[in-house]
Amino acid sequence: MKKKNINKSCLFCGNKNLSPKKVQYIYKHNGSFFVVDDVPCLQCDFCGEQYFEGPVLERIEKMYLQISNNMISPNQILNVPIENFANI
Ligand SMILES: [Zn+2]
Repeated sequence: MKKKNINKSCLFCGNKNLSPKKVQYIYKHNGSFFVVDDVPCLQCDFCGEQYFEGPVLERIEKMYLQISNNMISPNQILNVPIENFANI
């Protein structure tokens, strides 16, 4: 769903109108999640596919590593309920 390349047209649907947006990005690593708000990206006006620049994703990954190594603390920590659909 999230691709690293910035393109002039959407790789997913071919639409040429991509708009700069600030969105919530969820970084996943080994079963852990790191949520970052207001991440700049280009979003396809038609299908909503989001494209992030490599340096943006590298900064998120670097900060995740700093948090998981207890070098810095995040702004906020959420408790997230998890359930299997078969149990609902
Ligand atoms: Zn698209």
